[in-house]
Amino acid sequence: MKRTKYTIANWKMNGLNNSIKLVKSIENHIKKTKHSKSKIIICPPFTLLSNFTKIEKKISFGGQDCHYLNNGAFTGSISASMLKSIGCKYVIIGHSERRQYQNELSKELKLKIKSALASNLKVIYCIGEKFSEIKRRNKVLASQINSLPTNFKFKSIIIAYEPVWAIGTGKVPSLNQINNIHSKIRLLLAKKIGHNNSNKISILYGGSVNAQNASEILNLSQVDGVLVGGASLKVPDFSKIIDSYK
Ligand code: PEP
Repeated sequence: MKRTKYTIANWKMNGLNNSIKLVKSIENHIKKTKHSKSKIIICPPFTLLSNFTKIEKKISFGGQDCHYLNNGAFTGSISASMLKSIGCKYVIIGHSERRQYQNELSKELKLKIKSALASNLKVIYCIGEKFSEIKRRNKVLASQINSLPTNFKFKSIIIAYEPVWAIGTGKVPSLNQINNIHSKIRLLLAKKIGHNNSNKISILYGGSVNAQNASEILNLSQVDGVLVGGASLKVPDFSKIIDSYK
């Protein structure tokens, strides 16, 4: 089945007001190369989102997190409906840095996913094992996938497989491993939502993707795109990643 491909930038806590130049350069690159092989999404810090969504046409934008309620006494939090109201189409949920530093657990992630879907945002749901969990990877991934609801528009969920030990470390699983793990993730999805529905979900790889390794990762049969951290902050590198689809 032909699935939508995605090239997603996770800026994390990087970027200031002048980062609009970076977005414009990427936008120009997409226009110049007439890129149509993947959807390009940038997830910058919250403070930049409303500026970006007003201007750009070819790029879509997403938040890096959302609260599970629409509003209330939750100082420092942003809701899915707030993201939607400023023109976001996507939100990252369950990034390992939030699981680790904000202690986000599956019960809360489940609610966040429901809230994002209710606000008509597409969810980029991050899953992946820590280094110490490699031997029981399948169990870890199965329990993370269990946080997904069973009844949703299946094209509204994008899975990003990001082994925690590969994020920002320069270490990447072998190509064979990536392909096999993605197949296993699809089997886990099939168990939960059925074979046909599982085939509609794009599964991206994330973790130390860069301008050099993107092309071989993107050409794997089970990879439907990439989620890119560090390399997404450099225009030439991110542009090269965008150009790496066959
Ligand atoms: C990420 O933070 O989602 C990520 C994949 O980071 P990096 O590309 O820097 O490893």
